[in-house]
Amino acid sequence: MAYKITLIPGDGIGPEITEATRRVLDATGVNFQWDLAYVGSSAQDRWGTPIPDSVFDSIRGNKVALKGPVTTPVGSGFRSVNVALRKGLGLYACLRPCKTYSGAPSLYKNVNIIIIRENTEDLYSGIEFERGTPEAAKLMELVSQTTGETIRQDSGISIKVISEMCSRRIVKFAFEYARAHQRKKVTAVHKANIMKFSDGLFLSVAREVAEEYPDIGFEDRIADNMNMQLVRKPQQFDIVVAPNLYGDLLSDLCAGLIGGLGLAPGANLSDDIAIFEPVHGSAPKYAGLNKVNPMAMMLSGVMMLRYLGEEKGADRLETAIAEVIAGGRNVTYDLEPEVAVGTSQVADAVIEKLGVTNT
Ligand code: NAD
Repeated sequence: MAYKITLIPGDGIGPEITEATRRVLDATGVNFQWDLAYVGSSAQDRWGTPIPDSVFDSIRGNKVALKGPVTTPVGSGFRSVNVALRKGLGLYACLRPCKTYSGAPSLYKNVNIIIIRENTEDLYSGIEFERGTPEAAKLMELVSQTTGETIRQDSGISIKVISEMCSRRIVKFAFEYARAHQRKKVTAVHKANIMKFSDGLFLSVAREVAEEYPDIGFEDRIADNMNMQLVRKPQQFDIVVAPNLYGDLLSDLCAGLIGGLGLAPGANLSDDIAIFEPVHGSAPKYAGLNKVNPMAMMLSGVMMLRYLGEEKGADRLETAIAEVIAGGRNVTYDLEPEVAVGTSQVADAVIEKLGVTNT
């Protein structure tokens, strides 16, 4: 029986890397029925909304989606499609593995970190007050009355929300993941020293949850120190759990440690729905050039195969990708500028490797 998967090509470089990924996934021999769905500016132009209800329906029905990146207009225009999908579908956990592959231009060897990012709240909750609006003035008045603090009238305000329930849920997810994948340690990242009621809550809940998992190590790091330590000695970290904003920043930093965004896959998960997508964005300047690395999305496909229980197909695809990286000849400019091939040629090379392991 074929797995029915919602396939969202996205925009910018999205359609090219999605097509490359679809081809390699089909070449694993696992059967897929791709249910195409469109979001972002093309959907906005056509249907007057960046996420038509039919996209939510498709993902809710199929339970699994594979998604290319989507451009978010900066400063104005529609809000992030990515944030809306994660919030709308309750995809509370963002899972981003960062692993070194032999032959990748990584700064370090033997990095194997899983970033687990809370996906629904923090400064990404979307509760914002535009400078100069009556709503912003009302909030400023309330703040002044309740705290005695004055906020400058020319301020825009974004609310940082950290709840006990969401903190507990994501930290538990991190420990359960550690147990299920034989991981040894969870590191919680925060700025509880400064934001005592939001990050402070996250940290105290993390400490409580850690006590329920005596078989897994636990430590915490203040976010700025964490950045420095990741750059100095990334091998000391195993699973990292963080509120939304720090998790977002740390996952790009970790991608930089292992050879760049072209090798960083991800998943957004609830208890019964999953969207797999690369960490990187739509890189509009490279759109349509058959230039960028499709491996972050292919590795997201590997994560999807494991989620579906297709371990053998996942191992074969990951091995094929690793062999293409190690070969160093059929890779894109970010991995090997001297010999760089295009996006679709990388897919051809991975499919060829899959063919070899098939026989
Ligand atoms: P980006 O990740 O799109 O690109 C940053 C740079 O990283 C690129 O210029 C390129 O040099 C490199 N890069 C990215 N993907 C690559 C790949 N596959 N192969 C090789 N090099 C790659 O970040 P940005 O320019 O800040 O964002 C562009 C748009 O993407 C924005 O609108 C942003 O909101 C959106 N975005 C979407 C998602 C998503 O859909 N999940 C995630 C992040 C950003």
